[in-house]
Amino acid sequence: MLKDGRVFVIPCSGIGKALGTVGRAAMYEVVEKLRPNEATTICLPLLTIGDEAVLKLARNNPCISVDGCPFQCARKNIEASKGKLVASFMVTDVLRENKDLKPKAVTELDPKGLKLASILAEKLATQIDEINNNNR
Ligand code: SF4
Repeated sequence: MLKDGRVFVIPCSGIGKALGTVGRAAMYEVVEKLRPNEATTICLPLLTIGDEAVLKLARNNPCISVDGCPFQCARKNIEASKGKLVASFMVTDVLRENKDLKPKAVTELDPKGLKLASILAEKLATQIDEINNNNR
């Protein structure tokens, strides 16, 4: 998955939080289905521990953070690593726009959580297109 020349969609770990699971599901949807040739991801903890190869990728390619809550661990870690952060998304913002899609389960998303993830994935795909159009 580590490829130069793509937009890096980096979700927070979000352990124990349903909205963290939504953020990761949205990332997988966009990098595997919606924009497989334009987007990829990296493991946030590798940035946090300062892995050199991952740092280089995050600094040389556009990065989008996806956070499950206002603590914004992904955004803050990308910034602290001097990654090339070009956009930030919070699942809580998407939930605010879609109040009836509050997921309950954490480990396996229910239909509402899956729908919320798909809405976020579409927003990420649109953002990736904008980034690529602006870089042409
Ligand atoms: S942003 Fe919120 S949900 Fe995500 S890892 Fe941090 S505390 Fe957990």
